[in-house]
Amino acid sequence: MAVLDLRRELLRALMEKTRANCPFCPENVETKTPMFPKSFLAGGRTQSGDAVVMPNLLGHAEQSVLAILLREHHLKLTDFTPRMLLDGFHGSMEYLKCLSEVDTSVKFPVFVFNYLTLAGSSIFHPHMQILVRDRPFFLVKLLMDKSQAYWKEHGPITDAV
Ligand SMILES: [Zn+2]
Repeated sequence: MAVLDLRRELLRALMEKTRANCPFCPENVETKTPMFPKSFLAGGRTQSGDAVVMPNLLGHAEQSVLAILLREHHLKLTDFTPRMLLDGFHGSMEYLKCLSEVDTSVKFPVFVFNYLTLAGSSIFHPHMQILVRDRPFFLVKLLMDKSQAYWKEHGPITDAV
């Protein structure tokens, strides 16, 4: 069996194995995923298109949520559409708006989308993580610092089209 065929077979087997108890598949989302307190978000989750946003039980920042991007357990990278990602961003923005109303210190959201195990994702189903802190992550801070240095040296860009 060719290496590519072997990889496809391995991916198919992994997809089937993880599909059986996936908390992010549509039939499980309501019963197997956490909700925000009703005092924070009346519906417990936000939804935009097929994207569903909920608290992350294994968060990586002070505030950490997940956006399930679509109903399908697996999608080839070439089959993702901009709409799928925009739905995830839109649902997440609704969460961020609620968060900003109760905690004004959180100002630096980061959207992370690592798909499949080779990219470090522990859950097969396509999802995005939204991490929010009161200070920027390293690369965001670097971009802010470099932008400020550029501004001080060159001033505003006035000839933009
Ligand atoms: Zn799934």
